[in-house]
This record gives sequence, structure tokens and C-alpha cells, in this order.
Amino acid sequence: MQEMILCKLGEVVLKGLNRRSFEMKLMSNIRRRTSRFGKFKIYSRQSTIYVEPQEEKCDLLGAYEACKHVFGIIAITRSIPCEKTKEAILEMAKLYLGDSLRAAHSFKVESKRADKSFPMGSIQLSQWVGGQLHHAFPHLEVDVHHPELTVYVEVREDAAYVHGPAEPAAGGLPIGMGGNAVSLLSGGIDSPVSSYMIAKRGVKLDMIHFASPPYTSDQAREKVLQLAQELTEWTGRLNVFIIPFTEIQEEIRRNCPEEYFTLIMRRFMMRLADMLAKELKCKSLVTGECLGQVASQTMDALRVSGDVTELPVLRPLIGMDKEEIVRIARHIGTFDTSILPYEDCCTVFTPRHPKTKPVVEEVRELEAVLDIEGLCQRAMEQREVVKVKLQ
Ligand code: ATP
Ligand code: MG
Repeated sequence: MQEMILCKLGEVVLKGLNRRSFEMKLMSNIRRRTSRFGKFKIYSRQSTIYVEPQEEKCDLLGAYEACKHVFGIIAITRSIPCEKTKEAILEMAKLYLGDSLRAAHSFKVESKRADKSFPMGSIQLSQWVGGQLHHAFPHLEVDVHHPELTVYVEVREDAAYVHGPAEPAAGGLPIGMGGNAVSLLSGGIDSPVSSYMIAKRGVKLDMIHFASPPYTSDQAREKVLQLAQELTEWTGRLNVFIIPFTEIQEEIRRNCPEEYFTLIMRRFMMRLADMLAKELKCKSLVTGECLGQVASQTMDALRVSGDVTELPVLRPLIGMDKEEIVRIARHIGTFDTSILPYEDCCTVFTPRHPKTKPVVEEVRELEAVLDIEGLCQRAMEQREVVKVKLQ
């Protein structure tokens, strides 16, 4: 019998009647992510999804690493099935986990018996396999409380499975189960993290980026596409809508008081994201805003920027410290790209003294001199879509 991947479902199993559709979605996401590593049979039994190679040339390790990034899987392990007899289970444990058993100082065996026709109870089975392993590896101590190594045995309908400890996986919910949203992606540290966090809750994202050439460079644009590329590890392929923002920013600079530049600019971003969301039938917007981080992210400022859209604005970083955000950015692999020094359109025309306690009615009045509709329309018409594929 052949080594395979066991994916343990997290919250997915809690979803009652929806459970089946969650599992189906998750399996199709796994299928898509593993297809490049060969042909696998993917099926679910008792809150585990099995990913079983169907041909010699399957790259099991490649598929295993890919599955670690699929939301909806809480833990993952490789395993080998064997015949459902205690002797076969023992032999498989010795063979498959031999290196780990030799390296460990203490161990225990934990068994689960889903197949109630199996002649031993799970405790009995653990004791028997544990005793025999202790015999075969006499240096090992049994420690049921804090073992260095746990040998897992699962007796299921079709076979018995032996494996070592599962590794934590991506967690969250399968992408596609949580609706769609438009995520505002800048080149900074925060917005890749906010995008990841919302994708993790099962939301399929479309990315929007505002670029202000020639004030922002090609490198800045490439940096954002690179970030999107890095996010595809988690989200699968992404569309990045690049919206030209130069005219809007110049118009704001020409016609509005300097201390309001950033705020009015942010309102335009939200308006354009809202327009795109409506077009793509997305139900919310996502930003990397964090309370108090900068002048445009005070509570009053958030009220002002959120004022131009009726859609819920999801701000998953709202209560987080920078260190926590950086930790996630490193974990998801976007940090090193985010700190590349290319300018974002927010850093062009930054006011010397930005308004920190803006009043929404005042801002509405100040921007009323602009041809808001025309500016937005033109920006949307001149947009570009870049399809970013998982590499
Ligand atoms: P980030 O690290 O994500 O750039 P930030 O702390 O620099 O965030 P701001 O520049 O004020 O904060 O932007 C707040 C949010 O607005 C960003 O997290 C992002 O969601 C959105 N945003 C800012 N600039 C752009 C841009 N050029 N294109 C798309 N979205 C943007
Ligand atoms: Mg920024």
C-alpha cells in the first residue's frame, strides 16, 4: 500500500448541514492545488480528506507542501495504510516510523477505532502496539503525558492508518465558502496581511491597486504584482485590477486644501473599489487599515473614508500592533517584498499636517469642487487587469 496525505478538517466539521458543501469545496480546492504534482484520488471520510497518489510519478512531497496552504485544513500528515490486524499495524509502525522511534526518548501510542468491528478496543490496541514497540526499541520510555513522539493508529472502514504527529496547516475555511470581496492592495506590509486574513475566512478576493505614474514607478507596480504572486500561495490565482490614479491625485492637489489630500484621496480609492465590487458582484471591501497607525486611520478618518461606500469595509488588522502584523507578513511570505523601498501613491503629495479629526460633512463639501463622477469613470475605463497565476 502506498503513502498518502491525510488532511484534518478544522471548523469545517462544525458546519452542520452545510458540512457536505464545505467538504466538496475543500476537496475541489485541494484538487486544483495538487493537480500539478500528478494524479491524486481525493476523498473524505470522518472529517479527514485523503489525498492518494494514483501514479508512480506523483510528487507526494510537493502535494503535501501545497496542501499546507489550503484553507480549511487544520492539520496535515503523511500516512501509510495497512491491513486491519494488530500485527500489520505494528509492522507498519516499525517500518514507517522507525527513524523517529529510534531518535525519540519517550513515546506513546494513540489509537482511534472508527471501525467498531475491529476486535480490540482503542485503549487495548494502543497498549498492545505500545508494548510491542517498547520491546522492539528498548531505549524508549513510555510517557503517556508528555511523550516526545506519539504514534497514531487509526482503524477505519477501508484500512488501518499509521502516522506520526500531524503538522499544523493553514486553518480557516475553504476559499469560495465566504463570498467574494475586493481587497485594496498597496505595496505596504499591511494590505497583503489583511488580504490573507480575509481569504483565510473562505473569501474569494479580487485585488485592486491604484497607481500614479509617473509619480509611482514601474518597480512599484511590479512590487504589487509580486505581492499578489506571493499571496497566490494561499489564495490561488488572483486578478489584480490596476487603476490609474494620477489624474485624481493631481486634481485633488490642485483644488483641495493640503491637510485633506490623503483623506480625499482615500475616499476616491473607496469609491473606485466600490464600483469594481458592484461590477464583480462582490459583497465587501477589504483594507489593511489599523486604528491609529497613521493620521488617515484615526476613528474620525475611518468614518470619512468609509462614508462613500455602503458595502461593509472589512479591516482585519484594525486592532493589531505592528509587530503582530509583521509576524503574519513573515509567516505568509510577503514581508521581504513589502519592505522594498518603492513609493506608493499614498506617499506622493502627503500633507505636512494631515487632518486627524476630520468631519465628514466638511470633507464632502471640500471635494464637491471636483468632477467626482467623471474622474472615477475615466479611471475605471483606463484600468488594466493582470491575471496572476500560482507559480
Ligand atoms: P499598507 O501597509 O497596506 O500600505 P499603510 O499602513 O501604508 O498600509 P495606508 O497607506 O494609509 O496605510 O493605506 C491604508 C490601506 O488603504 C492599505 O492597507 C490598503 O488596503 C489601501 N491602500 C493604500 N494605498 C493603496 C494603493 N495604492 N492601492 C490600493 N490600495 C491602497
Ligand atoms: Mg501604504
